[in-house]
Amino acid sequence: MSVNSRISGFHKLSVEERVLKVAEHAGIPSASLDTFIDSGNLPMDVADRMIENAIGTMPIPIGIATNMIVDGKDVLIPMASEESSVVAAVCNAARQCRASGGFTTSMTGSLMIAQIQLVDCPDPFSARIKILEQRDQIKEICNEADPVLIKLGGGFSDVEVRVIDSKDGPMVITHIIIDTRDAMGANTVNTMAEKLAPFIAQWTGGRTYLRILSNLADQRIARARATWRLEDLGGESVRDAMMQAYYFAETDPYRATTHNKGIMNGISAVVLATGNDTRAVESGAHAYAARSGRYTSLTTWEVDKEGSLVGSIEVPMPVGLVGGATKIHPVAQTNLEILGTKSATDLARTIAAVGLAQNFAAMRALATEGIQKGHMGLHAKNIVAMAGGIKEEIDIVAEILVKAGTVRVDVAEKELAKLRGQ
Ligand code: NAD
Repeated sequence: MSVNSRISGFHKLSVEERVLKVAEHAGIPSASLDTFIDSGNLPMDVADRMIENAIGTMPIPIGIATNMIVDGKDVLIPMASEESSVVAAVCNAARQCRASGGFTTSMTGSLMIAQIQLVDCPDPFSARIKILEQRDQIKEICNEADPVLIKLGGGFSDVEVRVIDSKDGPMVITHIIIDTRDAMGANTVNTMAEKLAPFIAQWTGGRTYLRILSNLADQRIARARATWRLEDLGGESVRDAMMQAYYFAETDPYRATTHNKGIMNGISAVVLATGNDTRAVESGAHAYAARSGRYTSLTTWEVDKEGSLVGSIEVPMPVGLVGGATKIHPVAQTNLEILGTKSATDLARTIAAVGLAQNFAAMRALATEGIQKGHMGLHAKNIVAMAGGIKEEIDIVAEILVKAGTVRVDVAEKELAKLRGQ
C-alpha cells in the first residue's frame, strides 16, 4: 500500500488514533502496532538475553515524523528520543521541502573496515608489502569465516596496509574491507580480523594485538540533499540568517559540535528506534566531521540560482536490518516495517535525510525566533511534572507558564498551589 506521510493534524490526535493512522498509512495490520501502546513492550526474557545483569527495561517515547519524502516516496519515520521538539523539528523541515520534492539520497555501499595491529616489526615497510602480497589468501580466510554473507553477495572487498608512527615506534596496521550487506557488521568483521591475525603474525614475524572494526566507517557513507524554496522557508531574511548560522558552524568547532549534536538528535533517534547501535553511528559521525583535521559541520548549505536554500549531508551510516538488536527487539521490527525499508542501505539513506531535516529545523529556529520558543510547550509540561503536577494539572499549569513566559519550577509550584486552592 502506498504511504502518504503528509498527515495533517497528526499531533492533535490521541495516541490510539495516531497508532491506527500509522497502521493505515504504512499498510501494517494494527495488531502489530498494539505493542506500541504497551509502554513496557520489551519482554523481560528478551531483555535478559540482550545484555548482562539485566534488572528491567527503560521505555523511551517513540514519535512519528510525518511529511518526509525520500527519493520520491512518502515515508513515516519512527524516532525514539527522550528530548522534546526533535520529532516536531523533522515534521516541520520535511513539510517545508515537500513542494521541491523532498530528499534525494545515495550511498557509497555497505563496506566496513576492521583493523589488525602489528608491532615488533623491525622492517615495517617490508612487512606491509608481505601482507599485501597475500591478498588472495586474506580474501579466502575472511570469506571462510562467514559463508552466509558470501551467499548474500557480501564478504571480502579489499585489503589496505598502513605504517603509522606511534609513541612506541612504527606499527603496521592492516585494514580488511568487508561488504557486510544488511548487517551493521561489527561482529562479522571482528570475527574475520581475529581469524586473520595469526597469519599476519606468521607472514611478517611480528606480534598482533588489537583486532577490531573501525567505527570510522568512511566507506559506508550515506548522502542526502534537499532544496527549500524561499516562499516555503520564510523569505530571504530567514535564508540569509540560516546561511550565517551555517558559516558559523563551518568555521568554529564550538558551534559545529552543537550544530552536529542537532543533526544527531534526528539520526540517533532513528538509529535507536530500529535497534541499531547509536554509539557506533555517533562516534563515526563526529570523527568524519573532523576528517580534514579540523572539526566542522556535517552538512553543507548553499544558495542556488533561484535563491533557494540547498542543504546536503554526508555521514558514515553503519546500520543494519539484521544482527544486534534489530531482529530481536519487537519494537525495532515494527519500526522497520513502518519505514518500509528493504535494505540496510535504504535505511541508512533515510537516516541521513532525517539528519539533514533536523539540521534545517534547528538552524531555522536558531536564526529566527530562537530554540526555546519551540521547546517551551513540552518543556513546560515536564517542568510542571517536576513541580509535582499530575494528570490534567500538567496541561493547565503548563499553559499558564508558557503564556506568562516564565517556565520555571518555582512558578509552577505556586500555580499548582493556586489551582489546588491552597
Ligand atoms: P551479527 O553478528 O548479529 O549478525 C551478522 C551476521 O548475520 C552476518 O555475519 C551474517 O552471517 C548474518 N546474516 C544473515 N542475513 C544477513 C544479511 N541479509 N546481510 C548480512 N548478514 C546477514 O551482527 P553484526 O551486524 O555483525 O554486529 C552488530 C552488533 O555488534 C551490534 O549489536 C553492535 O552494537 C555490536 N558491536 C559493535 C562494536 C562497535 O561498534 N565497535 C563492537 C562489537 C560489537
